[in-house]
Amino acid sequence: MRAAGWSTDRPLLGVVADDLTGACDLAGGVAHAGLTTSVTLGVPTEPIPADVDCAVVALKSRTNDPAEAVRDSLAAARALGDAGVRYVYQKYCSTFDSTDRGNIGPVADALVDLLGPDAISLGTPATPQVGRTQYLGHLFVNGQLLSESSLRDHPLTPMTDANLVRVLGRQTTRPVGLVDHSVVRRGAAAIAAAVKASVGAAGEHIDAGRRHLLVDAVEDADLDRLAEAIGLLDVPVVLGGGAGLAVAVARSMAGAGEQGAEELPSIEAGPRLIISGSGSERTRAQVAAFRGKVITLDPLALAGDGSGVERLARDLAEAVHADGTAGAPPTVLVSATAAPSDVRRAQKELGVDRAAALVEDALAQLAVRAVEDLGVRRMIVAGGETSGAVAAALGVKTVRIGALAAPGVPWTYATVRDRPMALLLKSGNFGGPDLFDTAWQVAP
Ligand code: ADP
Repeated sequence: MRAAGWSTDRPLLGVVADDLTGACDLAGGVAHAGLTTSVTLGVPTEPIPADVDCAVVALKSRTNDPAEAVRDSLAAARALGDAGVRYVYQKYCSTFDSTDRGNIGPVADALVDLLGPDAISLGTPATPQVGRTQYLGHLFVNGQLLSESSLRDHPLTPMTDANLVRVLGRQTTRPVGLVDHSVVRRGAAAIAAAVKASVGAAGEHIDAGRRHLLVDAVEDADLDRLAEAIGLLDVPVVLGGGAGLAVAVARSMAGAGEQGAEELPSIEAGPRLIISGSGSERTRAQVAAFRGKVITLDPLALAGDGSGVERLARDLAEAVHADGTAGAPPTVLVSATAAPSDVRRAQKELGVDRAAALVEDALAQLAVRAVEDLGVRRMIVAGGETSGAVAAALGVKTVRIGALAAPGVPWTYATVRDRPMALLLKSGNFGGPDLFDTAWQVAP
């Protein structure tokens, strides 16, 4: 891991992401910008692919114990270092989802320490394309202060302070500085000078000795200026932020990457499966709009029926063997997605954890049956937790990133049971209402 100027060494960018669907969002954008990209699911247990421009490790470290998040992030960063990555990027949510305990600050501290005593972290959650902007250190969500947006009431990470310098400052003992918009708008050289001043003698804009620097960005051009500035720095730097900065870095690196060099495998024809365990509003709309055969999974029914999964597997086989409409391959949706009141009822009766485990286990088993017994080689999975459970059951460790089905939602290529397969792992809130019908148009 070195600094200064882009080179053609691969991988250029090594990303430690704090959740799976966020990792896929970033990976889709980076691949779209022209870098060949892989995503490894979970703490790597085998070497990271070194033949891509951008290697992403998708952890589950947003809300767990900070010590565990640090341990997993360091393991991921070391594996990326072994693959020879030029820059390490700490991917967190574009709404800076965290609490005073972490995990953004503790992970940033650990990654900075890994790079050495002179290292700093530098970045921004700002992702203007999805309405996340940072101005004078304050984060806005679609023009509303973070602390006045719906994120204020997030069940796990309520964001009640929009001042990210303060928010991050509570998560670390290191000083937190700001490169504000008056510097950013002057361009890459001004940003680089401000960063250098912060780590050397006291500068015009920033005091000496800052270890974490947040950078204002209100439009993509600001992120491009920051990406260019990163190439001018001569201190070891951990990059950090949402998908926006990573994609800007990818844009600026794309000339150094081997665009289009990756040969992705062709996927056999066959029936198509959608698995939905997401409870989000957007997924509910996608399930409602889907025009094909739907098999519904109810955790309350499953809880009282030891052979419930067998019955669902039979229903699935029957649906898959039915003819597809107008010559298209059969496409079946297996859905646990339900109205919030139904989810609450199941949670009340079974407990939140048991309800989730029943749903995730059943969906994962059905996904495995579909691949092993029914010839399914193309699959959409909706919901972050659900995606993790299905991918784990299929034994998927690393995927390659393909075309975007929608912003933030790329098709991925995996090897499952020694054969290539296309998987689309979708965050609950991503994709248009018709995604379950349209995503196949760009499927491998
Ligand atoms: P999202 O965050 O978009 O809601 P996730 O898959 O991350 O999607 O999380 C949804 C969680 O809710 C999963 O753990 C899933 O197993 C659980 N779940 C899904 N459907 C139901 C249901 N009908 N009743 C109770 N829990 C459910």
